[in-house]
Amino acid sequence: MMMSDPLTGGRLTIDLNAISANIRHFQDVLGPHCAVAGVVKADAYGLGLVPVAQTLRACGVKTFFVATPDEGVTLRGLFPGAENIAVLGGLYPGAAQDYRAHRLTPVLNDLGQVSAWRSFAAGAPCILHIDSGMNRLGLDAADRAAILDDPTRLTGLNLHLVMSHFACADEADHPMTARQFTLFDDVARRACPGVPRSIANSSGAMRLQSYHLDMVRPGMAAYGLNPTPETANPMAPVIRLQVPVLQVRTVPAGDSVGYSATWRAEAPTRVATVALGYADGFLRSFSGRGVLYANGVACPVLGRVSMDLVTVDAGAVPGLKPGDMLDVVGPGQGVDDLAAQAGTIGYEILTSLGARYRRTYVHPGIQAGLASEK
Ligand SMILES: *Cc1c(COP(=O)(O)O)cnc(C)c1O
Repeated sequence: MMMSDPLTGGRLTIDLNAISANIRHFQDVLGPHCAVAGVVKADAYGLGLVPVAQTLRACGVKTFFVATPDEGVTLRGLFPGAENIAVLGGLYPGAAQDYRAHRLTPVLNDLGQVSAWRSFAAGAPCILHIDSGMNRLGLDAADRAAILDDPTRLTGLNLHLVMSHFACADEADHPMTARQFTLFDDVARRACPGVPRSIANSSGAMRLQSYHLDMVRPGMAAYGLNPTPETANPMAPVIRLQVPVLQVRTVPAGDSVGYSATWRAEAPTRVATVALGYADGFLRSFSGRGVLYANGVACPVLGRVSMDLVTVDAGAVPGLKPGDMLDVVGPGQGVDDLAAQAGTIGYEILTSLGARYRRTYVHPGIQAGLASEK
């Protein structure tokens, strides 16, 4: 079994080749008339903004979505050229000057932002977000009625895209998806004729061809999560996470393990203590529920997850010893499987990945087994 890195313990391998394969899968299915944007908010879902954005760029991606202007400024540092960097959070109050200085494209979320951008940066590109039912960001019912009533409210804007966002596309045939599409299609056609349109996230792009429009915005699927949870995952897995065993002991019958003594041995039990805790993003809600794998053999979490440590049942792996690596994410289970054990979603597992792992990027020209540091 592979030995741990002597100083860092946990090892996180991020396969950039798999991200490329996932993006190319979308490009192949969509054809040349539909653009594939890169969604790289939250440090590219925790996988690293710079290496991930470079990978997407090498696949031909030219439009990138971030959440905050700050993320956009970082990305502009990487791409000083014509790449389009769009800020989903909208036009942050007081930040218009910075958007213009760094050529960030605001995703305008209400008519106040529309007039602010028009008076401040007339001619600079922007995106209009039509809310079609999320009730989170985007033009609400009153704003939608206002632009339909008086389309001149949008004149003077250099609109690169009009977009909306699905709430339930991860569920096959959810009726809200079709309703959102119809509402968006109607508003976009009447208020922004001729402007390119986009509504589909990863799941939306997998549902109906008519949802593709001029651009799709896949995030999670590019990062290996399953956009169609009712079927086997069509995407290539992107991460592997391995953590070292620190100590193995036999806990006598009647003894408890961990904080609050929530697990008690009914019979003598081999327990491995592993360098992994909630400070690494291994959520405390995996207590008594998560499973790690030793060469494909399941080792269920016993008792509470603590900050830096977790204890697992090593009874099925007699030879397990300190320094051996257990898989948290790997051949035994994917990110989505792991998420389900804690009652959460793969997105939260990825964006919680801790800073203490030794990160290794597999990139073009380098095979997974020979990954180099980057
Ligand atoms: C995060 C996000 C996406 C990507 O969603 P996935 O489900 O990860 O594909 C697309 N569009 C918007 C507006 C988003 O906020």
